[in-house]
Order: sequence, then structure tokens, then C-alpha cells
Amino acid sequence: MEQVVGPQAGSGGHSGRAYDQSFAREVYQKVDSGDEIKMCMQCGVCAASCPLKEKMDYSPRKIFTMIRAGKRDTVLSSQAIMLCTSCYSCKVRCPRKVPVVDVMHGLAHYALRQGYKPRVETALFGEKFWGNIYRLGRIDEKDVAQRYFLGHGLVPGIKLMLENKDMGLGMLFKKRMKLLPERPIKNIKSLRKMLDKAKAMGKGGAA
Ligand code: SF4
Ligand code: SF4
Repeated sequence: MEQVVGPQAGSGGHSGRAYDQSFAREVYQKVDSGDEIKMCMQCGVCAASCPLKEKMDYSPRKIFTMIRAGKRDTVLSSQAIMLCTSCYSCKVRCPRKVPVVDVMHGLAHYALRQGYKPRVETALFGEKFWGNIYRLGRIDEKDVAQRYFLGHGLVPGIKLMLENKDMGLGMLFKKRMKLLPERPIKNIKSLRKMLDKAKAMGKGGAA
């Protein structure tokens, strides 16, 4: 399973340290929604609910276990935290009301800030995901998946589609994906302006 590339030397990360006993405290204090992990009772409902469980290297439950075990590098280089598609199945079903999706995104943002870089596959998925947000103002899971698969080339893309058909059917059954194409939201132009501005700010192009 593909992994995320760890931070380069001098990037400010903790390259070379596979275990860090203070990691749980670090997550509670520095990761958005990180302190919510304290409520997790390891029941595994989130892992069972996740439509991407076959594709993730670690389930959300396992990620939380590893945070408590101090496995800093393994968690921050995990491809799972970058793959979460915000379907909310986990958050809705968690018996302890842990906002799993928010923690996963918080960990992804934190990993990027710490110098971890998603590899080509994950970056391609992110590009198609955010392209969808820009075009529609929402996510059309079919569209993201098709663009991601075809981003590998026509023949490999069709092969990937066939390999992942069970995941697509799972999302349809869980009502996390619609058969019909999604339409852009009403104020899509305003959203695009905001996203353009945020992108320019990210590049240092705005005050
Ligand atoms: S469903 Fe909630 S309590 Fe159960 S393992 Fe997942 S986060 Fe923890
Ligand atoms: S929100 Fe993310 S982690 Fe939660 S079930 Fe969906 S894809 Fe999995």
C-alpha cells in the first residue's frame, strides 16, 4: 500500500524518529479536533463504516491506537489520513460522538505542515478532489473517482475502475454516492472567487 513521504532533513519535522512517546499530547494540543480522540473507546464502528477501508493502509480506529502508542512517523506518513473523502459515515455512527472525519483532516493538515508530502497517487487524488470542489462547490464522488482513475491513463484507468467497482457499489448502498451527476451550487462563482483568493494567499500573492 502506498505511503506518504516523510519530511526531508531540515524541514522542521521529526524524520528518522519512528516512535515518540509525547505524540498523543502533541496531537491533543496541536491538531484540529485532536483532543476528541480521548473519547474513543476503540469499538471499531468507524473502521467498519468507512467506504475506503480497503484502500486505507490503517483504519481511523487503528490511527487513533497508534497515536496513543506514540507512533508519530507511522501516523503522519499514513496514506489513510490523506485519503479520507469526508463521507461522514464514521462521524455519524461513532457511539462516542468522536468527529472522526475532522480528526482525519486535522491530522492531514498537521502532517503537511510538518513537512510530510503525499506521494504521486495521493496528490493526484487531492487534485481531482479539489478540482471537483472548484467546479461544483461540492463533491460528486463518481466524478472524482473517474477523473482520478483516468488520471492514470485510459487503459490503466479502466482497469482501476473495474478493480474498485465494489467500493463504488458500497458507497451507493450506503447512500454516500448518487447515480445522477451533481449540479454546481447556486453561488459557485462567489465560491470560486474565494478559492482563487485563498490560493493566491497560499502562494504569497496577497497581503
Ligand atoms: S467509532 Fe468512535 S469510539 Fe469507535 S473506534 Fe471509531 S472513533 Fe473510536
Ligand atoms: S469520513 Fe473519511 S474516515 Fe470517515 S468513513 Fe468517510 S472516508 Fe472513512
